[in-house]
Amino acid sequence: MKIKVNDKVKIAVGKDKGKSGKVVQILPTSNQLVVEGINIMYKHIRPRKSGEKGQRVQFNGPISASNVLLLCPKCSQPVKIGIKAKAGIEGKKTAKSRICKKCKEAID
Ligand SMILES: [Zn+2]
Repeated sequence: MKIKVNDKVKIAVGKDKGKSGKVVQILPTSNQLVVEGINIMYKHIRPRKSGEKGQRVQFNGPISASNVLLLCPKCSQPVKIGIKAKAGIEGKKTAKSRICKKCKEAID
């Protein structure tokens, strides 16, 4: 997945379309992520004992990673991410860095 924790993303699809937020969790196995303030869901907790009140807990539900665009920290636009191999020193593995497809700046 090209998106990482603490990235700012813009939601491109769904009920939160147009909103943006910070990525707080990545779920690579399901290709989903959790974004602060996006896809707010409620969990109802039933009272365990009589006399106790049930609770409603708010949390951010996961959304599909394909429904978000990265907000580029350099040009502040929702962009697609490109991958560019960094020029590696001979004999060493080349690291990959993410680049903004719009302004061509490295994101990492
Ligand atoms: Zn950019």
